[in-house]
Amino acid sequence: MSVEEIQLIAQEVRGCTLCGLHAGRTRAVPGEGPVNAKIMFIGEGPGYHEDRQGRPFVGPSGQFLDELLGLAGLRRADVFIGNVVKCRPPQNRDPQPEEIATCTESYLFRQIAAIDPRVVVTLGRYSMNLFLPGARIMRDHGQPRKVGGRLIVPMIHPAAALHRPENRPLLEADFSRLPEILAQAEREEAEQAAAAPRADDEPPLEQLSLF
Ligand code: URA
Repeated sequence: MSVEEIQLIAQEVRGCTLCGLHAGRTRAVPGEGPVNAKIMFIGEGPGYHEDRQGRPFVGPSGQFLDELLGLAGLRRADVFIGNVVKCRPPQNRDPQPEEIATCTESYLFRQIAAIDPRVVVTLGRYSMNLFLPGARIMRDHGQPRKVGGRLIVPMIHPAAALHRPENRPLLEADFSRLPEILAQAEREEAEQAAAAPRADDEPPLEQLSLF
């Protein structure tokens, strides 16, 4: 984890002009949360309220996300919340492939590396497809997959559950399983740490040269 890197990325995002989305923004939304968060949530991009406030998930889907976090025994202050793109697409249109590529290479992947969370929860298909290109949201939601040493847990976007109430119980059930998934990730991490040779198990160089 690196506080300086996270602050630097936020500063760069606020001044970013790398893609056309910057022209329509009120504020860029770098994302927020503790740099030592064990779990990171990644949405799609800022909407109207986020663009006004410069903070992620503060509109209706954000209120719902807060409720969902409660089902997992989490508070907003415990987790890092970010987005695939950091500026609001005009009229909330879908982000385009070049916008996604530029913004994730420049910012999101650096944020993930700096925070190094055990579990990444993707909200909606855009963030899911960054890690699980062949996945389908209605088939694969709630099923953790190991990608690059972390558990990726694809979930339905909260806004999709607000628009389609039949999705709500699915999302609630997936959030309720998060504590178990996080515990599993932490157990695996502890096992790996125990199995790895410790630096002080290795003989110092001078000693090696005696043989
Ligand atoms: N929807 C998102 O995907 N991200 C936000 O920050 C808010 C709504």
